[in-house]
Amino acid sequence: MKVPLLDLKAQYRTIKSDIDAALIRMAESQSLILGPEVELLEKNLNEYLQCKYSVGVSSGTDALLIALMAIDIKPGDEVILPTYSFFATAGVVSRLNAKPVFAESDPVTFNIDPASIRKLITKNTKAIVPVHLYGQSAEMDEIMKIADEYNIKVIEDAAQAIGTQYKDGRRLGNIGHIGCFSFYPSKNLGCFGDGGLVTTNDEELAARLRILRVHGGKPKYYHKIIGGNFRLDAIQAAVLNVKLPHLDAWTKARQTNASLYTKFFIDHELAEETGRLEYDENNKVLLPKAVYADKQFSHDHIYNQYVIRVKGRDDLRKHLTENEIGTEIYYPVPFHLQECFAFLGYKKGDFPVSEWCANDSIAVPIYPELSEEQIKFTVQTIAEYLKK
Ligand SMILES: *Cc1c(COP(=O)(O)O)cnc(C)c1O
Repeated sequence: MKVPLLDLKAQYRTIKSDIDAALIRMAESQSLILGPEVELLEKNLNEYLQCKYSVGVSSGTDALLIALMAIDIKPGDEVILPTYSFFATAGVVSRLNAKPVFAESDPVTFNIDPASIRKLITKNTKAIVPVHLYGQSAEMDEIMKIADEYNIKVIEDAAQAIGTQYKDGRRLGNIGHIGCFSFYPSKNLGCFGDGGLVTTNDEELAARLRILRVHGGKPKYYHKIIGGNFRLDAIQAAVLNVKLPHLDAWTKARQTNASLYTKFFIDHELAEETGRLEYDENNKVLLPKAVYADKQFSHDHIYNQYVIRVKGRDDLRKHLTENEIGTEIYYPVPFHLQECFAFLGYKKGDFPVSEWCANDSIAVPIYPELSEEQIKFTVQTIAEYLKK
């Protein structure tokens, strides 16, 4: 049995006629960039994310970059972010000649540890960028408290967490000053190329984001500020407008798949419960925990990825690859150990939790169209290997 990490063709088959019609409509309209289709998407997403302003942009990376530009991050400013995330979170800070300051991760959620943030604040700290990794919220109350105390802005990297609710029920992207989303095809809501979104409830920031999106010109060709080409293609917006009504059902399927993994891992006596942090004979696999599951929200965790931890992760991965089961390592090298950040002077051992996550974590397939048999087979294959 083949179990790919992601099967976008399977999703396309379920909505093919609506997608095809939208693509043809866009071809005939030849309205290709921004315009009414993007405006409709922004309106739809304001509703879905329960925020006041949505601004469609060219990618999740550009969402982060434009957000930092909107709050006026300048050379020498310090921006605190988790050392364990996708590269874009740190890359955009350096591209503005600001200084990324890395923080430690929480061992249960993989998200930035608020206690670690507090120690990193200096007079140059201008922003904190929490990442809602794998589809679950960072501890935002604590982060906002620190930000308020020191008058620092918070940019949420919600690229993997569209629709996720925080413990008080609020949707992510609404809690910090700006929220950043990605429509990269592997995200829960993916378009047919690159695309992204920034959200805010602040009218002034929204206006600034819209101007920065078109090179900083307003009116057109008159520039008070310098922006960039951060425009979203209309054809991507059309695809997203077709997909958005299906998103909740897809999220539910991901959650069902996560429960099946938990059940099968426990049945195979590879784990006793979710959220364990120590390996032993009965816990050879550490399962991810939805920490707000007790709140009974529909979107406490949207499982963009289902990430387990095991000792000897690389050998297990080889075994799974040989058995045609797709996996990925998110992420093998935390920022503080990346070559491009060597000049910042960090060393191995500076962030033991993040380094442990980077060493032991492995993502197994979780996409909505996955069958129960495929999940069963994946867990069986892992069990065979770990019980040898
Ligand atoms: C995907 C992702 C991004 C970047 O999004 P792109 O659309 O690929 O540019 C940023 N941060 C995180 C955490 C991501 O997962």
